[in-house]
Amino acid sequence: MALARSLGGVISGEHGIGITKLEFLSDAEMAPFTAYKARIDPEGRFNKGKLLRGEALRGLGADVHAADLSHAYTPSFGLMGHESLIMQQSDIGAIADSVKDCLRCGKCKPVCATHVPRANLLYSPRNKILATSLLVEAFLYEEQTRRGVSLAHWEEFEDVADHCTVCHKCLSPCPVKIDFGDVTMNMRNLLRKMGKKSFRPGNAAAMLMLNATSPQTIKLMRGAMVGIGFKVQRLANEVLKLAARKQTNAPPATLGAAPVREQVIHFINKKLPGGLPKKTARALLDIEDRDYVPIIRNPVATTAESEAVFYFPGCGSERLFSQVGLATQAMLWHAGVQTVLPPGYLCCGYPQRGSGQFDRAEKMITDNRVLFHRVANTLNYLDIKTVVVSCGTCYDQLQGYKFEEIFPGSRIIDIHEYLLEKGITLPGAGSADAPGFLYHEPCHNPMKLQDSLKTVKALVGPNVLKNDRCCGESGTLGVTRPDIATQVRFRKEESLQQGEVALRATGSVAPAANVKILTSCPSCLQGLKRYEDDMANGLLEADYIVVEMARQILGESWLQDYVGRANAGGIERVLV
Ligand code: SF4
Ligand code: SF4
Repeated sequence: MALARSLGGVISGEHGIGITKLEFLSDAEMAPFTAYKARIDPEGRFNKGKLLRGEALRGLGADVHAADLSHAYTPSFGLMGHESLIMQQSDIGAIADSVKDCLRCGKCKPVCATHVPRANLLYSPRNKILATSLLVEAFLYEEQTRRGVSLAHWEEFEDVADHCTVCHKCLSPCPVKIDFGDVTMNMRNLLRKMGKKSFRPGNAAAMLMLNATSPQTIKLMRGAMVGIGFKVQRLANEVLKLAARKQTNAPPATLGAAPVREQVIHFINKKLPGGLPKKTARALLDIEDRDYVPIIRNPVATTAESEAVFYFPGCGSERLFSQVGLATQAMLWHAGVQTVLPPGYLCCGYPQRGSGQFDRAEKMITDNRVLFHRVANTLNYLDIKTVVVSCGTCYDQLQGYKFEEIFPGSRIIDIHEYLLEKGITLPGAGSADAPGFLYHEPCHNPMKLQDSLKTVKALVGPNVLKNDRCCGESGTLGVTRPDIATQVRFRKEESLQQGEVALRATGSVAPAANVKILTSCPSCLQGLKRYEDDMANGLLEADYIVVEMARQILGESWLQDYVGRANAGGIERVLV
């Protein structure tokens, strides 16, 4: 307040004075208000005695007097932070601090995946910030005035943290640079640390799969999830079609998690993909042993001097959609480079961070970095200068690995940008008559060198239309809170249908032909495959750009051909 005065400012802000600021005002400043109050409320009916003080009271009616507010207490964010134990002892202070500058301007609303006005108006970043601030105040108030914090507040806190896909899109339009994706991760981490995170079976199963490193566990989990879980989900979708359609046509608004019965319908209301590869990429190439680092090269077209790249496939491109990891390797083989893979199944650590398991993520990252330093020492004769990824979340997480120190002078690049650098594109990419595609840019976009739509057009042809909005999969959101995913998908479905109309209007896709949508994120691939039946004509076929390229450049049997060639003397295994 002293600073505000010294700068010529005022004590009263847009929200008035309040008993907290009263002590900073002089009697002279209070006098006009006191006189006004005496004139219009001579009996002191409104807020009796409040904000009245000093000399100006003299001579006024007996009912106009000052209330003693010296013991009054208003929970105020800024002031209480200093004295509150809960603020000092936990991360809640940091969370409160990270949202305190919000101007409530609402510029973040249009880009937010969970802001779907026709399904739900409550969970834009702006509104979530309001809710978070109020909940923090409630924590503080209760902590200081009662013996404990109400459990209901933690449930509401978790509900706010659930309503976020951690896409970080709210950061760029925000004038005060609040990234509610980061705030969400901190909130989830806080909930876990305080033991207030609810047990969600879908999330637990997904995290178990992502955390596993042993080939046996991964095989078992994959068999249970893809072999049984996905099939049951698709079957349930057929059986419960009517209830499912009701939900997808008009998603119910969320306010807290939906009851279990409703959640089950939310979970099955759009089919998970079928026909996934039976085995992981590593199992097909017999490179699951974590004591060996595989170097894959075409013995005919490469020498020991050929360029070597380090390819980090991550969980999505290796465990679930193994065709993505294999297509990346096949195209690197085609490009004539040597591909070094990490030894064993590794996860970058992002999914753990995203779900608030910060300590586990930190451990994974440290272990991975130590392992990569060993790999770099063992293979320093290869002079690796490029780290290739096929997933944006891996890219974002690996940026913190300091690869430039592991492989000195190296850079990280997405496979698609790498192929473009090498001049590898689809045969007809330069032609105005090239077939048309929709393009879904993932929230975690791995293409960073230029606008990714430009890159995709250069790779597959000019008739590509970008399709906005989140697919609703967002890592584990689809299994953690299927009710929220239904709302997000509701908005995406509309965007896809508009995209179909626009694409067919270009003439690059025949009126009744299937529409193809390309992407560059394994989670989005799973998400997009759920809209297969939502086109006005034909089906929606979702695929990875690099898989489409492998198919068109290397032929329909590219996968079997590549696995066959690699297994016939194309893999060197080096002990680390
Ligand atoms: S854009 Fe930033 S300042 Fe504006 S409401 Fe959103 S979070 Fe607050
Ligand atoms: S990170 Fe994405 S989903 Fe989360 S609040 Fe920001 S824009 Fe919305």
